[in-house]
Amino acid sequence: MGASNGDWLFAMGRGEEDSTRHRPSRPTQNLISTTTLGPANRGRLLQALYDMGPSSRADLARYTGVSRGTIGGIVQPLLDRRILAEGEVVPPNQSGGKPATKLWFSKDAKPICAVLLMHDHVRTCLVSLDGAVYAHSTEAFPKDLSNPQEAFRIISRSVKRTATSVDMPILGVGVAVAGMINTETGSIVSMSLAPFFDNFPIGHELGKELGVPVCVDKDDRALLVGDRWFGKGRGRGNFAVVYTGEVLGAALYLDGHLHRGPSGAGGEIGHTIVQLNGSRCKCGRSGCWETIATLRWLRDEAQTRGLPQPASLDTHRLIILADQGVEGAAQLLEEYASNLSVGLANLQQLMAPNYIIIHGDAAQGGDRMLKLIEGSFRQLILSRPGDDVSLVLGDSEDVAAMRGAAGLVLSELLNFPL
Ligand SMILES: [Zn+2]
Repeated sequence: MGASNGDWLFAMGRGEEDSTRHRPSRPTQNLISTTTLGPANRGRLLQALYDMGPSSRADLARYTGVSRGTIGGIVQPLLDRRILAEGEVVPPNQSGGKPATKLWFSKDAKPICAVLLMHDHVRTCLVSLDGAVYAHSTEAFPKDLSNPQEAFRIISRSVKRTATSVDMPILGVGVAVAGMINTETGSIVSMSLAPFFDNFPIGHELGKELGVPVCVDKDDRALLVGDRWFGKGRGRGNFAVVYTGEVLGAALYLDGHLHRGPSGAGGEIGHTIVQLNGSRCKCGRSGCWETIATLRWLRDEAQTRGLPQPASLDTHRLIILADQGVEGAAQLLEEYASNLSVGLANLQQLMAPNYIIIHGDAAQGGDRMLKLIEGSFRQLILSRPGDDVSLVLGDSEDVAAMRGAAGLVLSELLNFPL
């Protein structure tokens, strides 16, 4: 099937059958036939390029373990079709030889349309194959919206407007949803605050409407996919992504695979229990990590402790208040960081991703917040000699989420089922 052999880059405008794929399927163990060998090798070469960044043919040959001649044969059609372009010239080495050029993704390559679906608005943009994000658009849903078809009309209109803002066809549409997703069907299972979306087959409907491949996943996992292709997860075999803010979410990349759980049910780290008999969570249980480490906790505490404008408080502003010497601000900041570190430490203890990328509100606190979280985190994890465990900040949330949605499609394009 065209979609699964990585040939989307070359074959566009296919029929409806291929346009309603929703997720990367698990790889089968079939041998690679001669008809799929070309696309498979192309996909592997482009994966290598993402892992290494702009590279010469010789670098790619070394990395992938094949001859320069083989690399040349794969690269030339990608240059001819303007998927790749020749860039910076590398001087010849001391033993002589010809100068080489570095290959990277062409500005003329077709882009991917990225969609971030929230309970009250939809954001769309285009993402180029080298990760540049442009043509942003945001459309709010009417306050009284209660019908999925009406919401879908807004989403579809927004996607079409963005997709046609450039003078070339798009490669596909990637949708990151702030809610539970069935990755088998590409449907929304549920979105808190937008119950009308329950069981809505967003992937199927968009594929039918637009006639291009559509990939759908939960927003936290999309962030991870974006980091895998364009961010700090590039070239790594193991890492985790944690989103903080109004909710807490996580996604895991282990031994080169994104762990989704059955039908995409994994990643609900916000509802792991960290306090027996703790506060009531919105999920109906008590003592979830979300009850002590979200913005809601932070704002409730700020209110109780008499900090100014508690209802709009976030990490960035709390740091400013702490720096201004506002009474209680520094203490609250430390407690918030400590509470965040609890879930991160549990994640590290259980799965040992050893490299955790933090996104969302905590990341807005920059290195100051990172140091506070890390100090507490290191006290909570067991250390093993030789272990190299790192916490890092992700790219700004806007860019990361959109790149992540596009990364879902890219994973299919490159025959790289995550
Ligand atoms: Zn809960």
